[in-house]
Amino acid sequence: MTSATYPITDHFFDCIVVGAGGSGLRAAVGMVEAGLNVACISKVYPTRSHTVAAQGGINAALGNMNEDSWRFHMYDTVKGSDWLGDQDAIEYMTKAAPAAVYELEHYGVPFSRTEEGKIYQRAFGGQSVNFGKGQAYRTCAAADRTGHVILHTLFQQALHHKVQFFNEYFALDLLMDEDGSCLGVIAMCIEDGSIHRFRSHETVLATGGYGRVYFSCTSAHTCTGDGNAMVLRAGLPLQDMEFVQFHPSGIYGAGCLITEGARGEGGYLTNSEGERFMERYAPSAKDLASRDVVSRAETIEINEGRGVGPLKDHIHLHLEHLDPKLLHERLPGISETARIFAGVDVTKEPIPIVPTCHYNMGGIPTNYRTEVVTRDGDNPDKVVPGLMAVGEAACTSVHGANRLGGNSLIDLVVFGRAAAHRAAELVTPGASHKPLPKDAGEASVARVDRVLHNKGSLSNGEIRLSMQRTMQRYASVFRDGPQLAEGVSSIGEVAKSLADLRTSDQSRIWNSDLVESLELQNLMIQAVGTMNSAAYRTESRGAHAREDYPDRDDKDWMRHTLAWVDTSFETRISDRPVHMYTLSNEVEPIPPAKRVY
Ligand SMILES: Cc1cc2nc3c(=O)[nH]c(=O)nc-3n(C[C@H](O)[C@H](O)[C@H](O)COP(=O)(O)OP(=O)(O)OC[C@H]3O[C@@H](n4cnc5c(N)ncnc54)[C@H](O)[C@@H]3O)c2cc1C
Repeated sequence: MTSATYPITDHFFDCIVVGAGGSGLRAAVGMVEAGLNVACISKVYPTRSHTVAAQGGINAALGNMNEDSWRFHMYDTVKGSDWLGDQDAIEYMTKAAPAAVYELEHYGVPFSRTEEGKIYQRAFGGQSVNFGKGQAYRTCAAADRTGHVILHTLFQQALHHKVQFFNEYFALDLLMDEDGSCLGVIAMCIEDGSIHRFRSHETVLATGGYGRVYFSCTSAHTCTGDGNAMVLRAGLPLQDMEFVQFHPSGIYGAGCLITEGARGEGGYLTNSEGERFMERYAPSAKDLASRDVVSRAETIEINEGRGVGPLKDHIHLHLEHLDPKLLHERLPGISETARIFAGVDVTKEPIPIVPTCHYNMGGIPTNYRTEVVTRDGDNPDKVVPGLMAVGEAACTSVHGANRLGGNSLIDLVVFGRAAAHRAAELVTPGASHKPLPKDAGEASVARVDRVLHNKGSLSNGEIRLSMQRTMQRYASVFRDGPQLAEGVSSIGEVAKSLADLRTSDQSRIWNSDLVESLELQNLMIQAVGTMNSAAYRTESRGAHAREDYPDRDDKDWMRHTLAWVDTSFETRISDRPVHMYTLSNEVEPIPPAKRVY
C-alpha cells in the first residue's frame, strides 16, 4: 500500500472540532464567534449524534421550583463523584451552569414551562438543597426530549454561524508532531473512501462515550469512543476508565433508557415481593438516590432471588399510579419507548427494567480549560499543546467516580464554551501552520488498508459480541479480584482475535463493514484499558464496586487512574492527584465524608 492508491487531500483551519454532539457544536459555535475559522467533522449527520437521545434534562441551580444555589449543586456533584471529581472543575461548571442554560434558552431551546412561564425543573437523583437536607428540583427539561431540542438548536446556531461541516467523515487518528503537540487529524470520507488531513492549531475531541463495549447499553451504536482510542494510539493516557455508569432503568432485554426523570416525577421501584426496596438502601432519598446506589440495590435484589419475571432477573418500575395527563405532558417519549420495546402501557402496568451501561465517567484527561493533560515524570498536569477534549470523551473530571443525572448535558455546554474561550486565547486567526512530519498519517492509512484486506475467519460482529459479553461478565455493576484477573486475560485473548478479522466488503464507497471494523478496533483498546484499570483499583468508590474491597480507601486511592494502552494491547498504569482545591475563595473545598443518601 502506498499513498498513491489513497490520494490525500489537505485542509487548513484555525481549529478542528471532531464530533457534532452537544459539546462539539457548542465549542464550534463559540470558536466562530471568536473569529476563528472552524471545521466540524462528524461520522454521522450532526443531528444523529447521541446527544439527541438525552431525555431527562440539564442541571443548573436556577431555583425556579425551590430555593437553590450553585453551591448546593457543587456539593451534590462532589458527593455524587464520591470525592474523585476535581473540585476546581466542579466549581467552574456549577457556577457557570445557570448562564449556560439561559444561553440555550436564548438560542431557542423550547424548554417546558412552569405556570409562571419559567423554565420547568424536575427532581433527579442525588440532588439536594441545604447541603443534603432537602430535595432539589434542578433538572431543566423539555418534556423527556431535552437532548433532542438542545442538539437541534445548537445545530441551527452552528449553521447560522457558518461552521464548516464535514459530515460523514470518519476521523482515524491524530496528527502528532515530534515534540508531542497535536497538528490536526486524519480522516476518511465515508462516501467515497478518500483520505483527508485536517490541519489545525487546536483540535478538539468531542467524540462521545464508548458504551458499546458492553453487551447491554443505552447508547447509540455509534458510541464507540473513537477519540479516546485516537488518544491512546497517539501514546497518551486515558483517565479513570474503571468508572462506568450503569443506569438503574434500562428496559429489560432491549437496553433502551427510561429516564431517571420517571422516578423524579414520582415513579418507584419494586421487587418480586412488591416491596419498595429502595427504602432499605437509601432511607431518605429512596428511589432518587444516586445511580450507582440504585443499580447496586437492584442487582442485590436480583442476586438474592427477589427479581421479578419468570427468571427473577429484573425489577419493576411503576408509573401507573401517576396522572395520565402528567405522563402525557412530562414523559411522552418514555411512554412510547415502553410500549414499543417492552410492550407495556405505562398507565396500566409496571415497566420491566435492569441496570444497563449508560455513561463513561473516564476518558481523556483535561484541566478545567479543556486542554488535554498527561503525566510527564513528576508533572501530573502537563498540557498537550494543540489538543483539547470536551463532553463524554473528556475526563475533566467533573463526574469523578459517578455522574449525577442531568450533569452531562450541562458539562457539554459549559465546557464546549470553555474550549472556545481557551482557543480564542491561544490561536491567532489565520496563523500559518507548521509543516507536518514526513509521512504524517501514513500509519493510519496503512491501518485502513490492512483492515480492508485482512483475510481472517471472524467478522467484526463476532469479535464485537465476544468483547461485549466479556465486559458484561467481568466488569459490570459488581467486580471482584479473581473475576477481574480472569477478565484481564479473557479480554486480552479477545483483543488478539482482531488479527483474525475478515472484512467482507472491499469497496471504498459507503463501506459500513470497514467503518464497523475500525470502530471495533477503537472499542477493543478501550475495553482492555477499562478491564485493566478496574483490576488495578483495589477499593470501592462510586460506580466501581469491588466485592473483595467493599470500602472506599481515601488514604491510598484518592487519585485518578491513568492507563496507556498500545496497539498490541500492552497496558501501563499510573495516576494523577485529585484536585481538592477550588478556583475562587467563594467556596471552600468539600472535605471527604461518608456518602449516604
Ligand atoms: C439514552 C441516553 C439518555 C441520556 N439522557 C441524559 C440526560 O437526560 N441528561 C444528561 O445530562 N445526560 C444524558 N445522557 C448522557 C449525555 O446525553 C451524553 O453523555 C452526551 O450527550 C454526550 O455528548 P457528546 O457531545 O460528548 O457526544 P455525542 O452526542 O455522543 O456525539 C459524538 C459525536 O462525535 C462524532 N464522532 C465520534 N467518532 C467519530 C469519528 N471517528 N470521526 C468523526 N466523528 C466522530 C459523532 O459523529 C458525534 O457527532 C444520556 C445518554 C443516553 C445514551
